[in-house]
Amino acid sequence: SAEVKLAVFGKAGVGKSALVVRFLTKRFIWEYDPTLESTYRHQANIDDEVVNMEILDTAGQEDMLQREGHVRWGDGFIIVYDITDRGSFEEVPPLKGLLDEVKKPKSVILALVANKADLEHARQVSTEEGERLAAELACAFYECSACTGEGCVSEAFLELCREVRRR
Ligand code: GDP
Ligand code: MG
Repeated sequence: SAEVKLAVFGKAGVGKSALVVRFLTKRFIWEYDPTLESTYRHQANIDDEVVNMEILDTAGQEDMLQREGHVRWGDGFIIVYDITDRGSFEEVPPLKGLLDEVKKPKSVILALVANKADLEHARQVSTEEGERLAAELACAFYECSACTGEGCVSEAFLELCREVRRR
């Protein structure tokens, strides 16, 4: 069986923990300790292959050295922003820069996830802006809600896994 390590990055509060738990349990839990960093194991069947996924839910409190360690550890990455927080969207390119820096000369396997799509009334980042950024970063794009489960949360994780296996 295959081993795939995925790390989830993004500004504090964007819903990284909520997305990981939604993927693992199909449930939404309102509050997590924002300072908690956890690794989860999950077995998935992808294209008739058993894949042992390890998912690192980062807390965003780590120093540069720890963060680089997380990047080196990962095979594939999810960067999350919150559609109601433009600042979280603006943090995406520098994070991608870090991934490129640490992984070079290898190309980074990445998915961009726009979370909190249920909060349409408070939206600060349009879907088109998200799509445009994903095109610039040459990665997949998903807009979804960890809260309601709408918009392919599982697909984001599984498709990323698939892409790691293809390389
Ligand atoms: P993290 O710091 O990136 O891990 O963010 P958390 O998963 O701890 O979520 C931060 C806050 O946003 C919590 O209060 C969550 O309940 C809330 N949250 C996370 N995802 C969503 C979502 O899709 N919709 C809404 N409405 N709230 C969310
Ligand atoms: Mg968290």
